[in-house]
Amino acid sequence: MQDETGVLAGDERMLIDGELQYTSSGAKFDVIHPANEEVAGQATDGTVADMERAVAAARRAFDTTDWSRDVEFRHHCLIQLAEALEAEKERLRRILVTEVGCPVTVTGSQIDEPINEVRHWAEHGKAFQYIVDNGVHDTPLGPAHRKIVYEATGVVGAITPWNVPFYLNIAETMPALMAGNTVVLKPAQLTPWSGTELGRIVAEHTDIPPGVFNVVVSNANEVGAALTADPRVDMITFTGSTATGRAILAAAAPTVKKTMLELGGKSAHIVLDDADLNASLPLAAMMACVMSGQSCILPSRILLPRSRYDEGLEILKGAMANFPMGDPWTPGNMQGPQISEAQRQKVLGLIKSGLDSGARLVLGGGIPENLPVGYYTQPTLLADVDPNSQVAQEEIFGPVLTVTPYDTEDEAIEIANNTIYGLSGEVSSADVDRAFRVAQRMRTGNVTINGRSHFGINSPFGGTKQSGLGRRNGEEGFKEYLESKTVGMPPQE
Ligand code: ADP
Repeated sequence: MQDETGVLAGDERMLIDGELQYTSSGAKFDVIHPANEEVAGQATDGTVADMERAVAAARRAFDTTDWSRDVEFRHHCLIQLAEALEAEKERLRRILVTEVGCPVTVTGSQIDEPINEVRHWAEHGKAFQYIVDNGVHDTPLGPAHRKIVYEATGVVGAITPWNVPFYLNIAETMPALMAGNTVVLKPAQLTPWSGTELGRIVAEHTDIPPGVFNVVVSNANEVGAALTADPRVDMITFTGSTATGRAILAAAAPTVKKTMLELGGKSAHIVLDDADLNASLPLAAMMACVMSGQSCILPSRILLPRSRYDEGLEILKGAMANFPMGDPWTPGNMQGPQISEAQRQKVLGLIKSGLDSGARLVLGGGIPENLPVGYYTQPTLLADVDPNSQVAQEEIFGPVLTVTPYDTEDEAIEIANNTIYGLSGEVSSADVDRAFRVAQRMRTGNVTINGRSHFGINSPFGGTKQSGLGRRNGEEGFKEYLESKTVGMPPQE
């Protein structure tokens, strides 16, 4: 697999204050290719001191350069970046498959689309109206003409997870940069290269000034924690687990930092009794297996009407049983391994807890015999799942669907909402108006109806309840990185 179609190591270095560099001790940590369990390469093991230097650089760049005020220059830099990323697209794709183990066949949304999103944010930020006339208002001291000025928030710390690292590095940092902020990116330990490569390309191929964009990689959680607590940082944007999200919120409290958190999910798919099961359920099975279920928006709890329960289970079982799983480098495979043995054990543990609490194993449940090397997990279907059981309440992040029968539409909605999470959901029905009414009763930030995705760069995305704070994408997603300043003044003739 070490030829030009296989494993490729990314850059080992961080980007701090415009310089690609190693941590001063020279310490490194290993990056494992999840499909063969071998060390694919290394990354420099940054420290809290490195993080402090990166924050200082970002602070200085924000406070002393024109970056926050020069929208034309920002546009120029982001277009340069998009072009450079495009030129290195195939290298980035190989590095992504190497560190994540995601199938090369499904990297379009993880490499090609994010590069287009850099262009999107460049144009969005250029066209954005940074000064809005708010009209004339009566006050006891006479009429006040008010203008709303949208200004960059300041230094943004971006912390990203390992499941879709290149996409999330782009999604968290590009709107922030284009809005005029300076950024320190802290990628996940398991996937440092999608971050270091972004840093390298910024340094080598763009006019982005030193300090405006920094990348600090580390094998230690305390380095991310240092970013969240630093008083020089104005905002944290984060994607990851709800547990870490809570820690970030607490760390941000002493300095009242703005936080944007995209956290866990436990999304339900309500299949209404009039749904076309042959259309909706094979798609549901596919969504569970692509990316090995390592997706926060996966509708992993399938709610089937009791009248069509057995029929639905059969369709799901058929679709999951034949799912193309295997070496991520082989075109056509759509499910690769879990990212690590620890993650696979977590998935297997949750499956076991489901069985212990009375769920019925319809398919899978273990490690595929034909794939003994690599962190592969069988597509798994659990039926008769108690909505209050651990497997129905905790995010699994594996190729697992739990199925629960319901009797009435109200009961289905109640089960769907019976979770601390509120990221997304899905409804299937022959009657789109009916599905839309049900969608409005789901306490989530997003809902897909009949497989037509809610997710895209032009539409706000995020969670309610413990799935997060704030929204990415759309106009809302851009404004998250801006502060509004209202200025009152005497009306002029
Ligand atoms: P997972 O548990 O799935 O690995 P996490 O939510 O723990 O995901 O990690 C997502 C990101 O958060 C990673 O970049 C990780 O390094 C970072 N991280 C972990 N703990 C902390 C923390 N206490 N403060 C800030 N960042 C953290």
